[in-house]
Amino acid sequence: MLRMRCANDNHGRAVVTVRFCCTCGAVVNGAIRAKGCSELGHARMRRDRIVYCFDCGERVARAATGR
Ligand SMILES: [Zn+2]
Ligand SMILES: [Zn+2]
Repeated sequence: MLRMRCANDNHGRAVVTVRFCCTCGAVVNGAIRAKGCSELGHARMRRDRIVYCFDCGERVARAATGR
């Protein structure tokens, strides 16, 4: 498995409480089931500058790449 370069500290934690990393979208804890999300939840995440939903892994931010 390749380790992605990701600034999110989810990857380094011993106990991860979410399935997906909200920064790169990688699965950080496969033991946690993916949840179904509402658009409202994703809109809230978008406001919090979250790129990938940590519940379902879907991309919630539109233009995350590029500086
Ligand atoms: Zn990550
Ligand atoms: Zn979601």
